[in-house]
Amino acid sequence: MLAEPGTTALFGSHVLAEVDGAPKVLRDHWVLLEGRRIAGIQKQRPMADTVLDAPGRLLLPGLMNLHNHCFSEMVARSNTEDGGAKRGGGSVVYTVLLPLTRSGLQILSPEERMAIARMGVLGLLMGGATTVMEPFRAGIPEMFAAAEELGLRFYGAPYLFSTAAAKVGADGRVEYHTEGGADDGAQDLAVWNALHAEWEGRDQGRIRLAMSPHATDTCHPDLLRAAAARAKELGVPVTTHLAQSRGEVELSLQRHGRTPVEYLDSLGLLPDLLAAHCVHCSDDDLALMAARGATVLNCPRVFARGGVAASYARFRSHGVRTLVGTDGYNLDLLGELNAASMISKIQAGARDVATSPALIDAVTRDAAAAIHRPDLGAIRVGATADITSVNLLHPHLQPLADPLRAVVALANRANIDAVIVDGRLLVQNGRHVAADEARITAEGAAAIQRIWDLPEAQAIFAG
Ligand SMILES: [Zn+2]
Repeated sequence: MLAEPGTTALFGSHVLAEVDGAPKVLRDHWVLLEGRRIAGIQKQRPMADTVLDAPGRLLLPGLMNLHNHCFSEMVARSNTEDGGAKRGGGSVVYTVLLPLTRSGLQILSPEERMAIARMGVLGLLMGGATTVMEPFRAGIPEMFAAAEELGLRFYGAPYLFSTAAAKVGADGRVEYHTEGGADDGAQDLAVWNALHAEWEGRDQGRIRLAMSPHATDTCHPDLLRAAAARAKELGVPVTTHLAQSRGEVELSLQRHGRTPVEYLDSLGLLPDLLAAHCVHCSDDDLALMAARGATVLNCPRVFARGGVAASYARFRSHGVRTLVGTDGYNLDLLGELNAASMISKIQAGARDVATSPALIDAVTRDAAAAIHRPDLGAIRVGATADITSVNLLHPHLQPLADPLRAVVALANRANIDAVIVDGRLLVQNGRHVAADEARITAEGAAAIQRIWDLPEAQAIFAG
Protein backbone atom coordinates (compact mmCIF):
# COMPACT_ATOMS: atom_id res chain seq x y z
CA MET A 1 0.00 0.00 0.00
CA LEU A 2 1.15 3.51 -0.75
CA ALA A 3 1.49 5.84 2.21
CA GLU A 4 -0.29 9.17 2.36
CA PRO A 5 2.01 12.11 1.64
CA GLY A 6 3.75 13.90 4.49
CA THR A 7 6.42 16.48 3.73
CA THR A 8 9.12 15.80 1.17
CA ALA A 9 12.16 17.88 0.26
CA LEU A 10 14.00 17.32 -3.02
CA PHE A 11 17.29 18.87 -4.01
CA GLY A 12 17.78 19.72 -7.65
CA SER A 13 21.10 20.74 -9.15
CA HIS A 14 18.71 22.06 -11.79
CA VAL A 15 15.04 22.80 -11.18
CA LEU A 16 12.72 23.70 -14.05
CA ALA A 17 10.53 26.06 -12.05
CA GLU A 18 7.91 28.57 -13.11
CA VAL A 19 9.22 32.08 -12.49
CA ASP A 20 7.00 35.06 -13.34
CA GLY A 21 4.73 32.78 -15.34
CA ALA A 22 7.45 31.23 -17.51
CA PRO A 23 9.66 28.15 -17.15
CA LYS A 24 13.17 28.86 -15.92
CA VAL A 25 16.00 26.56 -14.87
CA LEU A 26 17.16 27.38 -11.34
CA ARG A 27 20.55 26.12 -10.09
CA ASP A 28 20.89 24.35 -6.75
CA HIS A 29 17.41 24.75 -5.29
CA TRP A 30 15.26 22.75 -2.92
CA VAL A 31 11.64 21.98 -3.65
CA LEU A 32 9.47 21.40 -0.58
CA LEU A 33 6.26 19.40 -0.85
CA GLU A 34 3.64 19.54 1.89
CA GLY A 35 0.85 17.03 1.46
CA ARG A 36 -0.37 17.27 -2.11
CA ARG A 37 1.01 20.77 -2.85
CA ILE A 38 4.32 22.39 -3.63
CA ALA A 39 5.04 24.55 -0.60
CA GLY A 40 8.43 26.05 -1.33
CA ILE A 41 11.20 26.53 -3.91
CA GLN A 42 14.22 27.78 -2.07
CA LYS A 43 17.98 27.87 -1.61
CA GLN A 44 17.88 26.78 2.05
CA ARG A 45 17.52 23.11 2.95
CA PRO A 46 14.03 22.71 4.45
CA MET A 47 12.93 20.33 7.21
CA ALA A 48 10.88 17.41 5.88
CA ASP A 49 9.82 13.82 6.70
CA THR A 50 11.48 12.55 3.53
CA VAL A 51 14.59 14.14 2.06
CA LEU A 52 15.93 13.34 -1.41
CA ASP A 53 19.35 14.93 -1.39
CA ALA A 54 21.34 13.51 -4.27
CA PRO A 55 23.61 15.51 -6.56
CA GLY A 56 23.09 15.84 -10.30
CA ARG A 57 19.30 15.71 -10.33
CA LEU A 58 17.11 17.67 -12.74
CA LEU A 59 13.68 18.29 -11.25
CA LEU A 60 10.95 18.64 -13.87
CA PRO A 61 7.23 19.20 -13.47
CA GLY A 62 5.59 15.76 -13.55
CA LEU A 63 5.62 14.56 -17.16
CA MET A 64 2.21 14.22 -18.83
CA ASN A 65 1.62 11.64 -21.54
CA LEU A 66 -1.85 12.31 -22.92
CA HIS A 67 -1.94 9.61 -25.57
CA ASN A 68 -0.90 6.10 -24.69
CA HIS A 69 -2.16 2.54 -25.15
CA CYS A 70 -0.56 0.01 -22.79
CA PHE A 71 -2.48 -3.05 -23.91
CA SER A 72 -2.20 -2.76 -27.68
CA GLU A 73 1.45 -1.70 -27.33
CA MET A 74 2.25 -4.96 -25.58
CA VAL A 75 0.38 -7.00 -28.20
CA ALA A 76 2.32 -5.23 -30.95
CA ARG A 77 5.77 -5.01 -29.39
CA SER A 78 8.48 -6.79 -31.36
CA ASN A 79 5.89 -8.12 -33.82
CA THR A 80 5.25 -5.03 -35.89
CA GLU A 81 8.70 -3.58 -36.57
CA ASP A 82 10.54 -4.00 -39.86
CA GLY A 83 7.26 -4.47 -41.72
CA GLY A 84 6.19 -7.41 -39.55
CA ALA A 85 2.48 -8.31 -39.30
CA LYS A 86 1.63 -6.02 -42.19
CA ARG A 87 -0.90 -7.89 -44.26
CA GLY A 88 -2.26 -6.71 -47.55
CA GLY A 89 -0.81 -3.24 -47.19
CA GLY A 90 -3.44 -2.38 -44.57
CA SER A 91 -2.82 -0.24 -41.52
CA VAL A 92 -1.50 -2.08 -38.45
CA VAL A 93 -4.38 -0.47 -36.56
CA TYR A 94 -7.00 -2.46 -38.46
CA THR A 95 -5.05 -5.61 -39.28
CA VAL A 96 -3.33 -6.20 -35.93
CA LEU A 97 -4.34 -3.97 -33.05
CA LEU A 98 -8.11 -3.80 -33.26
CA PRO A 99 -8.70 -7.51 -34.03
CA LEU A 100 -6.12 -8.88 -31.60
CA THR A 101 -7.01 -6.67 -28.66
CA ARG A 102 -10.64 -7.60 -29.21
CA SER A 103 -10.06 -11.36 -29.36
CA GLY A 104 -7.47 -11.16 -26.59
CA LEU A 105 -9.96 -9.64 -24.20
CA GLN A 106 -12.38 -12.47 -24.94
CA ILE A 107 -9.97 -15.12 -23.64
CA LEU A 108 -8.22 -13.38 -20.74
CA SER A 109 -9.35 -13.72 -17.13
CA PRO A 110 -9.79 -10.60 -14.97
CA GLU A 111 -6.50 -11.54 -13.24
CA GLU A 112 -4.69 -11.68 -16.58
CA ARG A 113 -6.15 -8.36 -17.65
CA MET A 114 -5.01 -6.86 -14.34
CA ALA A 115 -1.53 -8.30 -14.89
CA ILE A 116 -1.32 -6.53 -18.25
CA ALA A 117 -2.65 -3.27 -16.85
CA ARG A 118 -0.21 -3.40 -13.94
CA MET A 119 2.78 -4.03 -16.18
CA GLY A 120 1.77 -1.11 -18.39
CA VAL A 121 1.22 1.34 -15.55
CA LEU A 122 4.44 0.29 -13.83
CA GLY A 123 6.42 0.90 -17.00
CA LEU A 124 4.84 4.31 -17.48
CA LEU A 125 5.67 5.41 -13.93
CA MET A 126 9.22 4.09 -14.08
CA GLY A 127 9.55 6.00 -17.35
CA GLY A 128 8.76 9.27 -15.59
CA ALA A 129 5.10 9.89 -16.40
CA THR A 130 2.93 11.29 -13.60
CA THR A 131 -0.25 11.81 -15.67
CA VAL A 132 -1.40 9.51 -18.46
CA MET A 133 -4.42 9.64 -20.72
CA GLU A 134 -5.14 6.17 -21.98
CA PRO A 135 -7.73 5.26 -24.60
CA PHE A 136 -8.46 1.54 -24.29
CA ARG A 137 -11.13 -1.00 -24.99
CA ALA A 138 -13.78 -0.96 -22.29
CA GLY A 139 -13.14 -4.70 -21.89
CA ILE A 140 -10.06 -3.95 -19.78
CA PRO A 141 -11.44 -1.75 -16.98
CA GLU A 142 -8.54 -3.05 -14.87
CA MET A 143 -6.57 -0.12 -16.29
CA PHE A 144 -8.31 2.06 -13.69
CA ALA A 145 -7.55 -0.37 -10.85
CA ALA A 146 -3.89 -0.64 -11.82
CA ALA A 147 -3.49 3.14 -11.97
CA GLU A 148 -5.08 3.44 -8.53
CA GLU A 149 -2.97 0.63 -7.08
CA LEU A 150 0.35 2.03 -8.34
CA GLY A 151 -0.49 5.72 -7.80
CA LEU A 152 -0.58 7.12 -11.33
CA ARG A 153 -2.71 10.17 -12.17
CA PHE A 154 -4.90 8.65 -14.83
CA TYR A 155 -7.41 9.78 -17.42
CA GLY A 156 -8.96 6.53 -18.59
CA ALA A 157 -10.66 6.83 -21.96
CA PRO A 158 -12.75 3.71 -22.73
CA TYR A 159 -13.39 3.61 -26.47
CA LEU A 160 -16.68 4.13 -28.20
CA PHE A 161 -17.10 2.39 -31.55
CA SER A 162 -20.10 2.26 -33.83
CA THR A 163 -18.88 -1.23 -34.45
CA ALA A 164 -16.76 -3.03 -31.91
CA ALA A 165 -15.50 -5.32 -34.67
CA ALA A 166 -14.20 -2.49 -36.83
CA LYS A 167 -12.74 -3.90 -39.98
CA VAL A 168 -11.93 -2.93 -43.49
CA GLY A 169 -14.29 -4.28 -46.15
CA ALA A 170 -13.29 -5.54 -49.58
CA ASP A 171 -13.70 -2.01 -50.94
CA GLY A 172 -11.23 -0.63 -48.37
CA ARG A 173 -13.92 1.09 -46.30
CA VAL A 174 -14.15 0.67 -42.56
CA GLU A 175 -17.66 -0.54 -41.83
CA TYR A 176 -19.74 0.91 -39.01
CA HIS A 177 -21.98 -1.98 -38.22
CA THR A 178 -21.55 -5.51 -36.95
CA GLU A 179 -22.82 -8.47 -38.91
CA GLY A 180 -26.23 -8.34 -37.24
CA GLY A 181 -26.64 -4.73 -38.28
CA ALA A 182 -26.74 -3.48 -34.68
CA ASP A 183 -24.98 -0.26 -33.80
CA ASP A 184 -22.64 -0.90 -30.88
CA GLY A 185 -22.23 2.81 -30.13
CA ALA A 186 -25.17 3.12 -27.76
CA GLN A 187 -23.95 0.10 -25.85
CA ASP A 188 -20.43 1.52 -25.64
CA LEU A 189 -21.78 4.80 -24.33
CA ALA A 190 -23.76 2.92 -21.68
CA VAL A 191 -20.59 1.06 -20.64
CA TRP A 192 -18.68 4.35 -20.59
CA ASN A 193 -21.35 5.88 -18.35
CA ALA A 194 -21.15 2.93 -15.96
CA LEU A 195 -17.35 3.21 -15.77
CA HIS A 196 -17.70 6.95 -15.19
CA ALA A 197 -20.12 6.34 -12.34
CA GLU A 198 -17.72 3.83 -10.81
CA TRP A 199 -14.34 5.52 -11.31
CA GLU A 200 -14.58 9.29 -11.85
CA GLY A 201 -12.83 11.09 -9.01
CA ARG A 202 -11.59 7.92 -7.28
CA ASP A 203 -8.28 7.82 -5.46
CA GLN A 204 -8.67 11.40 -4.20
CA GLY A 205 -9.41 12.68 -7.67
CA ARG A 206 -6.40 11.09 -9.37
CA ILE A 207 -8.61 8.79 -11.43
CA ARG A 208 -10.65 10.54 -14.10
CA LEU A 209 -12.31 9.67 -17.38
CA ALA A 210 -12.12 11.14 -20.85
CA MET A 211 -14.63 10.59 -23.64
CA SER A 212 -13.01 8.61 -26.40
CA PRO A 213 -14.83 7.99 -29.66
CA HIS A 214 -12.24 5.89 -31.48
CA ALA A 215 -11.93 7.68 -34.84
CA THR A 216 -13.89 9.34 -37.63
CA ASP A 217 -14.01 6.13 -39.69
CA THR A 218 -15.18 3.84 -36.87
CA CYS A 219 -17.82 6.12 -35.33
CA HIS A 220 -21.15 7.11 -36.85
CA PRO A 221 -21.96 10.84 -36.74
CA ASP A 222 -24.79 10.17 -34.27
CA LEU A 223 -22.36 8.51 -31.89
CA LEU A 224 -19.86 11.37 -32.19
CA ARG A 225 -22.61 13.88 -31.43
CA ALA A 226 -23.90 11.89 -28.47
CA ALA A 227 -20.39 11.44 -27.06
CA ALA A 228 -19.62 15.14 -27.36
CA ALA A 229 -22.90 16.09 -25.70
CA ARG A 230 -22.32 13.71 -22.79
CA ALA A 231 -18.74 14.94 -22.33
CA LYS A 232 -19.93 18.53 -22.24
CA GLU A 233 -22.59 17.68 -19.69
CA LEU A 234 -19.98 16.07 -17.41
CA GLY A 235 -17.09 18.46 -18.15
CA VAL A 236 -14.71 15.67 -19.21
CA PRO A 237 -12.10 15.95 -21.99
CA VAL A 238 -12.80 14.46 -25.42
CA THR A 239 -10.06 12.62 -27.25
CA THR A 240 -10.01 10.77 -30.57
CA HIS A 241 -7.78 9.63 -33.41
CA LEU A 242 -7.88 12.01 -36.33
CA ALA A 243 -6.52 11.83 -39.88
CA GLN A 244 -4.26 8.98 -38.85
CA SER A 245 -4.34 7.21 -42.22
CA ARG A 246 -4.83 8.14 -45.83
CA GLY A 247 -7.71 5.67 -45.96
CA GLU A 248 -9.51 7.57 -43.19
CA VAL A 249 -9.22 10.82 -45.13
CA GLU A 250 -10.47 9.23 -48.36
CA LEU A 251 -13.38 7.59 -46.59
CA SER A 252 -14.36 10.85 -44.92
CA LEU A 253 -14.34 12.63 -48.27
CA GLN A 254 -16.50 9.85 -49.77
CA ARG A 255 -18.93 9.59 -46.89
CA HIS A 256 -19.22 13.21 -45.83
CA GLY A 257 -17.65 15.31 -48.58
CA ARG A 258 -15.30 16.69 -45.94
CA THR A 259 -11.85 15.98 -44.55
CA PRO A 260 -11.92 14.31 -41.11
CA VAL A 261 -11.15 17.68 -39.48
CA GLU A 262 -13.90 19.49 -41.41
CA TYR A 263 -16.23 16.65 -40.57
CA LEU A 264 -15.60 16.91 -36.81
CA ASP A 265 -15.93 20.68 -37.09
CA SER A 266 -19.34 20.26 -38.74
CA LEU A 267 -20.37 18.18 -35.71
CA GLY A 268 -19.04 20.84 -33.32
CA LEU A 269 -16.32 18.62 -31.86
CA LEU A 270 -13.16 20.64 -32.48
CA PRO A 271 -13.06 23.08 -29.55
CA ASP A 272 -10.84 21.58 -26.83
CA LEU A 273 -10.57 18.29 -28.74
CA LEU A 274 -7.46 16.21 -28.03
CA ALA A 275 -6.76 14.73 -31.46
CA ALA A 276 -4.14 12.05 -31.85
CA HIS A 277 -1.85 11.96 -34.87
CA CYS A 278 -3.35 14.29 -37.52
CA VAL A 279 -0.54 13.23 -39.87
CA HIS A 280 -2.81 13.35 -42.91
CA CYS A 281 -4.24 16.79 -42.09
CA SER A 282 -3.92 19.42 -44.80
CA ASP A 283 -2.51 22.83 -43.96
CA ASP A 284 -6.09 24.17 -44.03
CA ASP A 285 -7.16 21.47 -41.60
CA LEU A 286 -4.43 22.52 -39.18
CA ALA A 287 -5.38 26.18 -39.50
CA LEU A 288 -8.96 25.21 -38.68
CA MET A 289 -7.83 23.21 -35.65
CA ALA A 290 -5.79 26.17 -34.43
CA ALA A 291 -8.74 28.52 -34.88
CA ARG A 292 -11.08 26.21 -32.95
CA GLY A 293 -8.67 25.56 -30.08
CA ALA A 294 -8.09 21.87 -30.77
CA THR A 295 -4.89 20.12 -29.65
CA VAL A 296 -2.73 17.69 -31.62
CA LEU A 297 -1.35 14.68 -29.75
CA ASN A 298 1.83 14.01 -31.71
CA CYS A 299 3.22 10.49 -31.39
CA PRO A 300 6.14 10.39 -33.80
CA ARG A 301 7.67 7.00 -33.01
CA VAL A 302 4.66 4.87 -33.88
CA PHE A 303 4.63 6.49 -37.33
CA ALA A 304 8.39 6.31 -37.72
CA ARG A 305 7.99 2.55 -37.27
CA GLY A 306 5.90 2.59 -40.44
CA GLY A 307 8.14 4.97 -42.39
CA VAL A 308 5.96 8.06 -41.87
CA ALA A 309 7.23 11.40 -40.52
CA ALA A 310 4.82 12.81 -37.93
CA SER A 311 6.42 16.18 -37.33
CA TYR A 312 5.73 18.12 -34.14
CA ALA A 313 7.25 21.19 -35.81
CA ARG A 314 4.78 21.04 -38.70
CA PHE A 315 1.80 21.17 -36.36
CA ARG A 316 3.33 23.97 -34.31
CA SER A 317 4.11 25.98 -37.44
CA HIS A 318 0.36 26.18 -38.04
CA GLY A 319 -0.21 27.49 -34.52
CA VAL A 320 -1.91 24.36 -33.16
CA ARG A 321 -1.21 23.44 -29.54
CA THR A 322 0.79 20.22 -29.89
CA LEU A 323 1.57 17.70 -27.18
CA VAL A 324 3.76 14.62 -27.36
CA GLY A 325 2.51 11.16 -26.42
CA THR A 326 3.67 7.62 -26.95
CA ASP A 327 0.55 6.06 -28.55
CA GLY A 328 0.84 2.28 -28.75
CA TYR A 329 4.55 2.02 -29.26
CA ASN A 330 7.50 1.90 -26.88
CA LEU A 331 5.95 4.02 -24.07
CA ASP A 332 9.21 5.89 -23.40
CA LEU A 333 8.19 9.52 -23.10
CA LEU A 334 11.73 10.93 -22.97
CA GLY A 335 12.63 8.79 -25.97
CA GLU A 336 9.53 10.10 -27.71
CA LEU A 337 10.68 13.70 -27.14
CA ASN A 338 13.96 12.79 -28.77
CA ALA A 339 12.10 11.30 -31.73
CA ALA A 340 9.88 14.39 -31.95
CA SER A 341 12.98 16.57 -32.08
CA MET A 342 14.81 14.51 -34.69
CA ILE A 343 11.85 13.83 -36.98
CA SER A 344 10.84 17.50 -36.89
CA LYS A 345 14.34 18.65 -37.80
CA ILE A 346 14.56 16.19 -40.69
CA GLN A 347 11.08 17.06 -41.96
CA ALA A 348 11.71 20.82 -41.74
CA GLY A 349 15.28 20.60 -43.00
CA ALA A 350 16.21 22.88 -40.13
CA ARG A 351 18.08 22.39 -36.89
CA ASP A 352 16.33 25.06 -34.83
CA VAL A 353 12.78 23.66 -34.79
CA ALA A 354 11.21 21.50 -32.05
CA THR A 355 13.65 22.81 -29.46
CA SER A 356 14.18 21.10 -26.12
CA PRO A 357 12.33 23.75 -24.05
CA ALA A 358 9.34 23.60 -26.43
CA LEU A 359 9.21 19.80 -26.26
CA ILE A 360 9.42 19.77 -22.47
CA ASP A 361 6.56 22.29 -22.42
CA ALA A 362 4.64 19.87 -24.64
CA VAL A 363 4.61 17.26 -21.88
CA THR A 364 4.21 19.66 -18.96
CA ARG A 365 2.59 23.12 -19.14
CA ASP A 366 1.04 22.76 -22.61
CA ALA A 367 -0.42 19.36 -21.67
CA ALA A 368 -1.84 20.81 -18.44
CA ALA A 369 -3.42 23.68 -20.38
CA ALA A 370 -4.96 21.29 -22.90
CA ILE A 371 -6.95 19.52 -20.17
CA HIS A 372 -7.63 22.70 -18.16
CA ARG A 373 -5.49 21.68 -15.21
CA PRO A 374 -3.62 24.85 -14.22
CA ASP A 375 -2.51 23.07 -11.03
CA LEU A 376 -0.39 20.63 -13.07
CA GLY A 377 2.58 21.01 -15.40
CA ALA A 378 4.63 23.47 -13.36
CA ILE A 379 6.93 23.60 -10.35
CA ARG A 380 5.37 26.60 -8.66
CA VAL A 381 4.37 27.24 -5.05
CA GLY A 382 0.75 26.16 -4.68
CA ALA A 383 0.78 23.81 -7.66
CA THR A 384 -0.01 20.12 -7.28
CA ALA A 385 3.03 18.14 -6.13
CA ASP A 386 3.75 16.10 -9.27
CA ILE A 387 7.49 15.92 -9.94
CA THR A 388 9.73 13.90 -12.25
CA SER A 389 13.41 13.75 -11.32
CA VAL A 390 16.08 12.81 -13.86
CA ASN A 391 19.49 11.54 -12.80
CA LEU A 392 21.99 13.51 -14.86
CA LEU A 393 25.04 11.75 -13.43
CA HIS A 394 25.08 8.93 -15.97
CA PRO A 395 28.28 8.85 -18.02
CA HIS A 396 26.35 9.63 -21.19
CA LEU A 397 24.98 12.81 -19.59
CA GLN A 398 28.21 14.33 -18.23
CA PRO A 399 29.47 16.94 -18.51
CA LEU A 400 26.48 18.95 -19.61
CA ALA A 401 26.11 22.57 -20.59
CA ASP A 402 22.32 22.63 -20.89
CA PRO A 403 20.15 20.23 -18.85
CA LEU A 404 17.04 20.62 -21.02
CA ARG A 405 18.93 19.80 -24.19
CA ALA A 406 20.57 16.91 -22.39
CA VAL A 407 17.27 15.45 -21.30
CA VAL A 408 15.69 15.64 -24.79
CA ALA A 409 18.72 14.83 -26.92
CA LEU A 410 20.61 12.36 -24.75
CA ALA A 411 18.45 10.89 -21.99
CA ASN A 412 15.78 8.19 -21.95
CA ARG A 413 13.46 6.48 -19.47
CA ALA A 414 16.29 4.55 -17.83
CA ASN A 415 17.55 7.87 -16.45
CA ILE A 416 14.41 8.55 -14.42
CA ASP A 417 15.37 8.75 -10.76
CA ALA A 418 12.23 9.71 -8.83
CA VAL A 419 8.54 10.19 -9.58
CA ILE A 420 6.13 11.93 -7.24
CA VAL A 421 2.38 12.14 -7.82
CA ASP A 422 0.19 14.22 -5.51
CA GLY A 423 3.06 14.44 -3.03
CA ARG A 424 3.49 10.65 -2.86
CA LEU A 425 6.92 9.27 -3.70
CA LEU A 426 6.16 6.42 -6.12
CA VAL A 427 9.52 5.84 -7.81
CA GLN A 428 12.83 6.20 -6.02
CA ASN A 429 16.23 5.31 -7.48
CA GLY A 430 14.38 4.28 -10.63
CA ARG A 431 12.25 1.62 -8.86
CA HIS A 432 8.63 1.69 -7.76
CA VAL A 433 8.57 1.87 -3.96
CA ALA A 434 5.70 -0.59 -3.48
CA ALA A 435 5.67 -2.87 -6.52
CA ASP A 436 7.30 -6.23 -7.17
CA GLU A 437 8.72 -5.39 -10.57
CA ALA A 438 9.90 -8.90 -11.50
CA ARG A 439 6.58 -10.52 -10.58
CA ILE A 440 4.51 -7.87 -12.36
CA THR A 441 6.61 -8.20 -15.51
CA ALA A 442 6.46 -12.01 -15.52
CA GLU A 443 2.68 -12.07 -15.00
CA GLY A 444 2.04 -9.38 -17.60
CA ALA A 445 4.23 -11.10 -20.16
CA ALA A 446 2.51 -14.46 -19.55
CA ALA A 447 -0.90 -12.88 -20.15
CA ILE A 448 0.23 -11.26 -23.41
CA GLN A 449 1.76 -14.56 -24.51
CA ARG A 450 -1.72 -16.12 -24.34
CA ILE A 451 -2.84 -13.62 -27.00
CA TRP A 452 0.26 -14.26 -29.11
CA ASP A 453 -0.54 -17.99 -28.94
CA LEU A 454 -4.00 -17.55 -30.47
CA PRO A 455 -4.13 -19.14 -33.94
CA GLU A 456 -5.48 -15.83 -35.23
CA ALA A 457 -2.45 -14.01 -33.85
CA GLN A 458 -0.06 -16.61 -35.22
CA ALA A 459 -1.58 -16.13 -38.66
CA ILE A 460 -1.28 -12.33 -38.45
CA PHE A 461 2.29 -12.36 -37.19
CA ALA A 462 3.31 -14.94 -39.79
CA GLY A 463 1.92 -12.63 -42.46
ZN1 LIG B 1 -3.72 6.02 -30.38
